[in-house]
Amino acid sequence: MLEALQTLTYLTPEYIKQFQCIGSACEDTCCSLWEISIDKDTYEKYQNVADPSFKESLIQNIQTNNSSSNAVSFIMDEKTGNCSMLCDGLCSIQSTLGEQYLSQTCSTYPRVLNNIGSTTEISALLSCPEISRALLLNPNAMDFDNTFKPTTPNLKVDKIAYKEHINKAIDDVRLFAYDVMNDRRFSFQHRLILLGVFFDNADDYLEDGQYARIPAFINEFKTEIENNLELRDYDAFPQDNAFQFEYLHNTLMENLKAFIWNKRYTECVNSYMRGIQLNNTLLEDYVNTYKDCKSAFLEGYMNENPHVMENYIKNYIYQYLGGTVHSGKKFFDFYIKMVMEYALIKLHLIGIASEQKGLNDEHVVKLIQSYTKNYKFSDKFIDIVYDKVKTNGYNSLGYMSLLIK
Ligand code: SF4
Repeated sequence: MLEALQTLTYLTPEYIKQFQCIGSACEDTCCSLWEISIDKDTYEKYQNVADPSFKESLIQNIQTNNSSSNAVSFIMDEKTGNCSMLCDGLCSIQSTLGEQYLSQTCSTYPRVLNNIGSTTEISALLSCPEISRALLLNPNAMDFDNTFKPTTPNLKVDKIAYKEHINKAIDDVRLFAYDVMNDRRFSFQHRLILLGVFFDNADDYLEDGQYARIPAFINEFKTEIENNLELRDYDAFPQDNAFQFEYLHNTLMENLKAFIWNKRYTECVNSYMRGIQLNNTLLEDYVNTYKDCKSAFLEGYMNENPHVMENYIKNYIYQYLGGTVHSGKKFFDFYIKMVMEYALIKLHLIGIASEQKGLNDEHVVKLIQSYTKNYKFSDKFIDIVYDKVKTNGYNSLGYMSLLIK
């Protein structure tokens, strides 16, 4: 697989290059409650393992799935939810046979490789604590390199169906979106709103099929950002802390029961609940705690560590914008999902900060890592959240501003 891809260019952010799995020192495990599929070539290798007792243990821990697209996978331990090949926090296949015996799923995680034409873009799932740290805590984490070549064996590469002219438009839009996110003349929230105005207007060109007009539109929008006083005026966009808190809190509560499973995320949710209820007993009073802790703790942390949420948003755009638009959705559809994920993360952090009487890197990494692990191995949760926004008629820039500010 690697040989066939050596002629390609890889696009790799700095945080991927920095990543090193920390194995048994990890606070989570990659494999808990995930289905670990085994690709055909790796499965055949397992049939030819020389050590008879290890081969037997391997074969015993593999199951055939009739109802799944992944025909063969590892059996998960019923008590721990971990892969049955995990031993004292270490993968016994890696420690006994070496990394060349890992399945594509295990070799690749937490990286995601998407091949689009002659470029393979490497990103990663923030469900891994170490990759979350590498992305969120390094100010240069989203610097890109197109000379790096991954050397890990047996990487899984997903081919993305794409149309060249749309892909060019997406690339231009992404680059400009990173520029907006980097422009610290505006507050983080203001930049997020500016992105909404930009995506909303860019959709006109997408809908009319005028992809070649997008570079000119980007130039016009750059001029607007410099000269349009309404766009530059943060106060021109609506704010309502009570609406923001109640909408996000209710959305979380409505879905929590059906989705919550990860232990670390459960700890974060419990901390959020204790924090938000700290000074009040009634739902309508929680908003005061929310408002106070937002300005006292969250904004303080974000001002001191501006790269943390900037990196989160830039990575979100890098990782998900292309797939969303190539699948036929609009830029603004993508934007709504991104804002809702950001707003829900912010909600949790404010409650956690209330309980902890402050916010630090550890709280933020733990929340974003465990939130991702809990919700994002399918799109189910965010699709439900998005559908609710649409059903409520809140899929407009004004409402997005109410949830951002
Ligand atoms: S979650 Fe990340 S750091 Fe932890 S064991 Fe898996 S790959 Fe390594």
